[in-house]
Parts: sequence; C-alpha cells; structure tokens
Amino acid sequence: MDRNKISGQRQYEFVERFNYIREAGTLEERRAAEEILEDVKKLGLTGRLEEFEFTAYEIAEECLVVTEPYEKEYRVTGYKRCGDTPKDGVEAPFLYIENGDEISLSFAKGKIVMVNGPVKKEMYQNLVRAQAAGFVTMSGIPIDAGEDLEPAGYTLRGVEKTPIQGVNLHYKDAVELVERGASRVKLTLRQKKVTRVSRNIAARIEGSDKAEEMLTLSAHYDSVPQGPGAYDNMAGAAIIMELARYFTENRPRRTMEFIWFGAEETGLCGSLAYVKEHEAELSGHRFNMNVDLAGQLIGGTVIGVAADAAVCQMLAFVVHEAGMGVSFINGIWGSDSNTFAWKGIPAMTLNRDGFGMHTRYDTIDLISPWSLKRSAFVLGCIAEGLAQAEVMPFKREVPEEFKKKLDTYFAEA
Ligand SMILES: [Zn+2]
Repeated sequence: MDRNKISGQRQYEFVERFNYIREAGTLEERRAAEEILEDVKKLGLTGRLEEFEFTAYEIAEECLVVTEPYEKEYRVTGYKRCGDTPKDGVEAPFLYIENGDEISLSFAKGKIVMVNGPVKKEMYQNLVRAQAAGFVTMSGIPIDAGEDLEPAGYTLRGVEKTPIQGVNLHYKDAVELVERGASRVKLTLRQKKVTRVSRNIAARIEGSDKAEEMLTLSAHYDSVPQGPGAYDNMAGAAIIMELARYFTENRPRRTMEFIWFGAEETGLCGSLAYVKEHEAELSGHRFNMNVDLAGQLIGGTVIGVAADAAVCQMLAFVVHEAGMGVSFINGIWGSDSNTFAWKGIPAMTLNRDGFGMHTRYDTIDLISPWSLKRSAFVLGCIAEGLAQAEVMPFKREVPEEFKKKLDTYFAEA
C-alpha cells in the first residue's frame, strides 16, 4: 500500500464534523448516519442504511437519601437493567462492605450495602444471595471537581431476575457517607424498558475475480451520552471511510464491505443486527477488520485477534514488514469484532490506547492527523494483503476456546 494515498488531514476533518454526542437511538445518531451515507455516496459507492430496533432502559427516578444519623440526599445514577424498587423506595440500615468479600457479605442481610464497584453479574448474585436490601457503588477520583462530580452510569448485564436495585455515586460522596457515619438510607430506583431505532451504514466494493469471498471493515459511529466520542469512535469511522476511498481507486480481488455500526455502546446492537440481517451471506465472510478507539496522538497501537494464533503471526508479519510498531493480543475483544468471531468468522479489532474514553474529554481536541494516518495505513496494509492474495492465507474458523468465551460473553450481553 502506498502510504501517500492515505490522508490524515482528510480523516481529521471528517472527525471534526461529528464533534457532538451521538447516543444510540437519538436524532443526533441518526443525523450522523445520514452524513456518513452522504460521504459514501460521494465516493461513488452505493450505500445502504439498515435500520434495526434495540432495547434500552430509561431511568424515571434515581434517589439516595441518608435518613440517620443526619439527613441528606446524594446525587446518584441508577443501575440500568436492574429493576425497580417499590414506589416509595427501600429504607434499610447502611453498611460499607469494601470489595464484598465473604465475611463482609455475611453482615449484609437486610441492609443497603456500599461496595467498591461497579457491580457486575457475579457480585450482584453474591449480594442477592447475602439478602442485601440494595446496593450503592462509587466512581470518580478524589481530585474531581465541577462537572466531573457526576457519577458514572452503569448497566447490569446478563442477569435475568433483579430482586434488588442499586445506584452509583461519586467517590467524594462515598467518603462522606462513611466519615459522617451514615447508618440508615433510603434508595429509590424506577426505570422503564423501551424500544429504540438505530441504523448501520454499509457500502460494498465488489471483488474483481474472487467476489464470492468477503472481507469486512467496520467501526461504530455512536457515542456514549457523556461525550462526543471522537476517540471512541468517530476516529475509527474516519479510518474506515479513508480505506473505502482507497479501495474504490484500487479495486480489490475479494469483495469488501465497509460497515459503520450504530448502537455499539448499548451492547454491540449494530453488529448483532448486521449478522442477523445478512445471515445467508455469512458463509462467504472470511475476515472482519474492526476499529475501535483511534486517533489520539499519545498512545500505542494494539491489535486484538480473535482467530488462530497463526493468524496473529501472519498479521504481525504484514505490519512489521510495513515498518509499523504494533503489538498483538490473541484473544477476544470487547467490540463489534466479537460478533463476527461468535459467528465463526476470524476477526480483529485495531485499537489505540488513549485518554478519556466514555467521558466528556473525548473530543476532537485530542485527535491527531498523524495518528489517524498511521492507523489507517496499518489497517490498509492488512486489508490490501488479504484482498489481493491469490488464496486466503488462513481458514474461516475460530478456535473452540474463543467460541466458548464468546458464548458466555453474548449470553451476558
Ligand atoms: Zn467504542
């Protein structure tokens, strides 16, 4: 691949246009989808908008009040997908149980406990077993101020029955609760399950002589509600767009499908909708190249490969031959590539370490054309090598150990 055909500046200008929050299912996410589709069309490709529905949870009420020995309401965010307390809340003695070890849990019965969070499936089940009446967790750091005192929002995944509810508060408030000796609290959480609509954008370049074999390049374009997600993951979307441009001018032998996924942040909903919609075609899919987290100047490039270790080595060879410093991890990754691997299609995610994922600091300010160019070139080398090879250098299979992990992963999604 000719490095000079990749422009970091063009990618940067693309990310710049989307410097707004694009939470899944909102009008802003839709606006971004339509703009991406326009860009695809400008490349001369036939783009598709593929709509899908997904389930979301809307918090109606989230409240934590200390009732003894002092009275104070704290700012909290409720755990989504964690059910409802009675309308008037649950009032109970309060206890801080640190990491929720066995001994601490033995004192939890009938109490609303504060535990170092976030609470996930396993801890949730421990709390239920210990007959806690509810839970409180904390996020943030002691030096936070201003807007950063907003507690993070969490979703409880993979739990069907949710007899107890929980809220999250800021670290500083957690300290205050313990220091002031909060002994009794009232917790209220009410939420409703809603169906929302998101969309994927897809564009295909038909292969010249091996068209029945398909390679996908993908990146999600939705963001979390806290910030505009430049690093996570409009930068990834820009890289995919830059490569779509490159391959329209340098036609691949295999078919390439470029996909921008919606609703990744809500549990890989876009890629799950895609594999469902295109189920009949999946036997032709050979490899998924996904990008999630990209574009920051300070950071390192890591490629997570959900495929045989030999695939990992092949990709490393291609990248090192191009003179690019990249490290590899042979394992499953928490992004849309997992959906492909789960369907038995070898997959990878290109990822850059960086600062401020899922926060309001994730803006264009930290994005660099230099970094975008570098990552697009790395991915372009891999994609071109596979698109033009006489035969695919590896089989369409995912090792059993990964499949098992992915079955668990998606059972909990
Ligand atoms: Zn992401």
